[in-house]
Amino acid sequence: MTKTIRPLLAGNWKMNGTRASLDQIKAIGDGVKTPLSDKIDTLLCPPATLLYVATALCDDSPLAIGAQDCHQQVSGPHTGDISAEMIADCFGTHVIVGHSERRRNHAESDMLVRAKAHAAHEAGLTAIICLGETAYEHNSGQTLDVLKRELASSVPDDSTAESTVIAYEPVWAIGSGLIPTRENIEEAHGFIRSELVERFGNGGAGMRILYGGSVSGANARDLLDIPNVNGLLVGGQSLKAVDFLAIYAAF
Ligand code: PGA
Repeated sequence: MTKTIRPLLAGNWKMNGTRASLDQIKAIGDGVKTPLSDKIDTLLCPPATLLYVATALCDDSPLAIGAQDCHQQVSGPHTGDISAEMIADCFGTHVIVGHSERRRNHAESDMLVRAKAHAAHEAGLTAIICLGETAYEHNSGQTLDVLKRELASSVPDDSTAESTVIAYEPVWAIGSGLIPTRENIEEAHGFIRSELVERFGNGGAGMRILYGGSVSGANARDLLDIPNVNGLLVGGQSLKAVDFLAIYAAF
């Protein structure tokens, strides 16, 4: 882990969680109040239905609350969508954009992801922009080409180290229990770093690059030891406070 970059542990609840899960959010908020919170940032992205109540519940905790997606426009005739401004209005501070589940299930293009990240920036939110190759692309040696294209097309020009986090999530590692080799992760994160520095200079040198895909308490420590892994984006293991806090303890 690059020592000068403050790490981020982020949880993504996806389409999971009802009011009955609020006790887990509260437990996570309470659990990250330990002295470790001086060294790392923590974030939880519950479904939009729980966003407002979650921010109220974690008012006295360093745990930030964010959303899982936003529309690229500020308001208008977009039934079912929520804007970045609405997330900020609920005291959300971050939004995930370009998750592979949205790229795949909602046919989101690189350009749309870029517009969403820009909308997040305009609303004062930090955009967590997700990238990563499919199993086919991985097996056919295209990983770095995919990352190069997604970085160039999905990351807006107004990105800074404060407003933007990159999450490398190999599609085939998400929810599968499979994890790339240490060498593969080091290569991917090193490549992302060099592309960010080339484009954004110091801003790119300071941008956080998270690893995501089958992260657990058992593998978190090893992942965080890899150069240019500046934190973790966690799906399944963020749903229960006990699992998420075990990952937190690995930082
Ligand atoms: P997972 O999901 O931790 O359940 O693999 C990660 C993600 O999709 O962000």
